[in-house]
Amino acid sequence: MNDTIAAIATAYGEGGIGIIRISGPEAREILSGIFDGKIQNRRLSYGHVYDGEQIIDEVMAVYMKAPASYTAEDVVEINCHGSMVSLLKTLRLVLKKGARMAEPGEFTKRAFLNGRLDLSQAEAVIDVVKAKSDRSFDVAVSQLEGSLSAEIGNIRKDILDLLVDVTVNIDYPDEDIEQMTYEKLESCLCIIKEKIEKLLRGSQAGRMIREGIRVAIVGKPNVGKSSLMNGLLRESRAIVTEIPGTTRDTIEESVSIRNLPVYLIDTAGIRDTDDTVEKIGIEKSKEAFNSADFIIFIVDGSEPLTEEDEEIMSYLEGRKSLVLINKQDIGNRVNSRDLADRLPNSDIIETALIRGEGISEIEDKIEELVYGGQVSQSESVMVNNVRHIDLLRKAGQAIDDAKAMAARQEALDIIEIDIRNAFDNLGEIIGETVSDEILTEVFSRFCLGK
Ligand code: GDP
Repeated sequence: MNDTIAAIATAYGEGGIGIIRISGPEAREILSGIFDGKIQNRRLSYGHVYDGEQIIDEVMAVYMKAPASYTAEDVVEINCHGSMVSLLKTLRLVLKKGARMAEPGEFTKRAFLNGRLDLSQAEAVIDVVKAKSDRSFDVAVSQLEGSLSAEIGNIRKDILDLLVDVTVNIDYPDEDIEQMTYEKLESCLCIIKEKIEKLLRGSQAGRMIREGIRVAIVGKPNVGKSSLMNGLLRESRAIVTEIPGTTRDTIEESVSIRNLPVYLIDTAGIRDTDDTVEKIGIEKSKEAFNSADFIIFIVDGSEPLTEEDEEIMSYLEGRKSLVLINKQDIGNRVNSRDLADRLPNSDIIETALIRGEGISEIEDKIEELVYGGQVSQSESVMVNNVRHIDLLRKAGQAIDDAKAMAARQEALDIIEIDIRNAFDNLGEIIGETVSDEILTEVFSRFCLGK
């Protein structure tokens, strides 16, 4: 961390401006070696980048003195014109003057190592950059502001208080201090467990908001799968045809539905076939089907159910799905009550997708799936990262184990070990107790220049 790093911080391609970011002890000196403008702390200055012989670009540059910067080190940002030629020339010059090319995420890693952000906040930086919908963006910003860190800190404080009481009772059992009874211990552990559970309850929604909700659309050919895709996309990107079996492969589209990121997967169908080309599509459909968070099954309401519908239905057992009885405009020969009896986990809607009828109800159902009555849309603290969910579960398990031992009135020093484990698990979320391998893994997901 003693060296100075540099990278292009803006996206590759043409743009109005492009930014070179430099961080480390030599940042200011490097700037003064290549820039003819005035350098003042936290002031944007106009000038030119030159390589000693000729001008490379007309730029605005800023120097931010440590620790008041993104990385908490000396940072320089040079706003060049947004052409790759200018950016690469300037970057090359910066590297020649002694900076080293930054690794992906290295700026944010330095911010973390210098204590400017905790680990969950650093991870939120990736989420802010990669957010694909309003809602995922809001959750990421709130996490970046420290909402999750504060909640984790709060639970850890409860655990620490408890650990202190337990330890004092172990070390000084005869002193005149408040006795830690097993009842008291159990009730404290219950409160802690409930707080952990509360965070976990919102995690499924959080994960879907962050990673996107995978919705697989299934149904035999010609029932209206592409029409549904189009209705949800409100533009004709999937091809609608009247020849059964044209959607040979899976088609995946990402859309924002009610501010939620959704991946719609139009499947080719999942029935057995001898056609080799169709077989490939069917394998892909099965994969999509198995990995989906939610399945929309469409039947053609204008004719009775067929063997093919029955076959698909057999795959749906036990899965949460939404059944659309489509083509209501030209008839209704499928009994929704029969279907409801056969697919008890499913909701059923009658639609006429060709006219856009039913689309908004389908959107309601997708929204309901995410928030599921357990979390509100305005919930500010939302756990959405698999690493965090995993650690919360481990902490919850350790607290459960401690509780079970307290109920059996086992020795305090044994119970203490589990309580301490829970404390460490939660510490790992914010990076207080975390290994180098995990840090490397976390920051490798960043893009260059962040
Ligand atoms: P897919 O094979 O399941 O993707 O089905 P498509 O979306 O390509 O639709 C097949 C045919 O059914 C097209 O001619 C659509 O116009 C028609 N279709 C789709 N939805 C409806 C509907 O609600 N009512 C009627 N009458 N026709 C529909």
